[in-house]
Amino acid sequence: MSEPVLDVRDLRRSFEQGGVRIDVLRGVSLAVAPGEIVALLGPSGSGKSTLLQAVGLLEGGFEGVIRIAGTEASRLDDGGRTRLRRDALGFVYQFHHLLPDFSAVENVVLPQLIHGADRPAANARAADLLTTLGLGNRLTHRPSQLSGGEQQRVAVARALANRPALVLADEPTGNLDEATADVVLAEFLRLVRGQGAAALVATHNERLAAKMDRLVRLHEGVLA
Ligand code: ADP
Ligand code: MG
Repeated sequence: MSEPVLDVRDLRRSFEQGGVRIDVLRGVSLAVAPGEIVALLGPSGSGKSTLLQAVGLLEGGFEGVIRIAGTEASRLDDGGRTRLRRDALGFVYQFHHLLPDFSAVENVVLPQLIHGADRPAANARAADLLTTLGLGNRLTHRPSQLSGGEQQRVAVARALANRPALVLADEPTGNLDEATADVVLAEFLRLVRGQGAAALVATHNERLAAKMDRLVRLHEGVLA
């Protein structure tokens, strides 16, 4: 088997809440193969976002090992973690977090420029990704001029802009009505597969999870 793109071993995370310690992650282990799309299921409060934040190298305070594309994150300094995040990961959230003053295409161009791409290549890739998602006629629209489903498609294009090996998605269609969520999720999966990326997708929606390659469940702090 090829080396996993994500390898999590015995991840633990606790929080203090009102003087009480709650152990949210109690030894989570998970390997995701290149190109594999894994659904992370669990009820609200089970720790899905906490797990994605740790894997996304956005939060410290956990114990355990997180290896991304062969690199163990805890061995890196802050700069190294930022580079690894930028080089290997893409993010999609429940709320799109697009830059409101920039057009759809600019929202997908900017992360590529930060990553060192040149402007013509970044423009071409952004237009290509957005067109693949059916937004070829929305390139110069600002987020406020787009529907919720369209905004979330732009966020998907942005997540894939820098060709990440792994996309982390936290309830990526959780803010959409059911019919739109189905369509946007199908397009997300098609694009991720087309780009050969892997994905870890937190959801509490069993029906959407069933469309992914594999399903893991967070229950009482461990994966079942
Ligand atoms: P999910 O995404 O599955 O709904 P979360 O990961 O958001 O679950 O939360 C899991 C548990 O951890 C909840 O009980 C939540 O209150 C707690 N929690 C998450 N983040 C923090 C934090 N920064 N401080 C204190 N408690 C937190
Ligand atoms: Mg959550």
